[in-house]
Amino acid sequence: MECEICKQKIIEDDACELQGKQVCEDCFIEANSPAKSCGAGIGGAAKG
Ligand SMILES: [Zn+2]
Repeated sequence: MECEICKQKIIEDDACELQGKQVCEDCFIEANSPAKSCGAGIGGAAKG
């Protein structure tokens, strides 16, 4: 299977569920961690 966000190959045992999607641990952690960097695409609050 593959991560539904970054499409990298992951094993089922390694997949995490994020809002109903099977994602890799990296994406799962990133989605659950507070915004620490911008430009990744996750977040949304744009600052002018
Ligand atoms: Zn991923």
